[in-house]
Amino acid sequence: MFLFFFFFIFLLGSPPYLLARNTPGFTNKEVTGISEFKKHFNRFGYLPLQNDTFLTTDTFDDRFKSAVILYQEKLGLPTTGKLDFATVSQVSTPRCGVPDTPDTPDTFHATKRYVYFPGKPRWSRPMPMTLTYAFSPVNFITSLSSSDIRVVFKRAFATWASVIPVSFAETEDYAFADIKIGFYSGDHGDGEAFDGVLGVLAHSFSPESGRFHLDAAETWAIDFGTEKSDVAVDLESVATHEIGHLLGLAHSSVKEAVMYPSLKPRDKKVDLTVDDIEGVQALYGSNPNFRSGDLLESDISSNQAVDLRIRSSDHMALALILYLLCM
Ligand SMILES: [Zn+2]
Ligand SMILES: [Zn+2]
Repeated sequence: MFLFFFFFIFLLGSPPYLLARNTPGFTNKEVTGISEFKKHFNRFGYLPLQNDTFLTTDTFDDRFKSAVILYQEKLGLPTTGKLDFATVSQVSTPRCGVPDTPDTPDTFHATKRYVYFPGKPRWSRPMPMTLTYAFSPVNFITSLSSSDIRVVFKRAFATWASVIPVSFAETEDYAFADIKIGFYSGDHGDGEAFDGVLGVLAHSFSPESGRFHLDAAETWAIDFGTEKSDVAVDLESVATHEIGHLLGLAHSSVKEAVMYPSLKPRDKKVDLTVDDIEGVQALYGSNPNFRSGDLLESDISSNQAVDLRIRSSDHMALALILYLLCM
């Protein structure tokens, strides 16, 4: 439903190649549904709240346009300042609930896109360190077996442990674990209510909080061969992303990176890219067993896979537009 709403707005609102002749610009124009985008940009760090009225009106003004540009820059989209197709489909893609952090310019490494939380927090123990994690005995899901879930998280933690001198060990002692993992529904007491199926998938907190929350309403999947749902979300991909936050990484603007904020249903992204690895190694140093040659190879192959996915979804979108125009 949410997707259809955004698609409707998209047809109303912007793609220049469809509507440019009749709609020369949107500055200070009323466009039905803009307030939904304002709320989204406000929620994820692009539109600081000054008053409630601004967020509830449908005015496309310069301030809103600036937020659109910031969003496009951060998410690696063409910076048109318009609610074009790429932007609307990005807004409607399920994502992490952690707000995005502006990129920090780095004159030495122009291609660096990884970002830290303000103050660059990290776990401050002597290296090599071991962090313990535990699952909430109360806030858990029953749609997957507990042992299967544990295997997935073990793998996700091992992915990060293979590149930094930090290891992770599961403990039964939830109260004293460094990282506390739980599945929650709706409002669960930390001011970041979950929103049901898709939308926000999970969120976690920067060091040294250790809180790791997943939306219990999602159709969490371990194997897409057995889980056929269109809204299934890959548990390992989300776990790997959230562990990045727990270690101190904020959202990257590199689309292929694990730390990119969104993940489509039925997509899998579990391999760290150069961006993820450089980011986390700048915080903790390198695992002595890590070999950068392996990384380069896996990064190239995962980039190719992502490119293919993007191309196929663009084709689908284009076909849908043409179909609607012909109706
Ligand atoms: Zn995130
Ligand atoms: Zn939470």
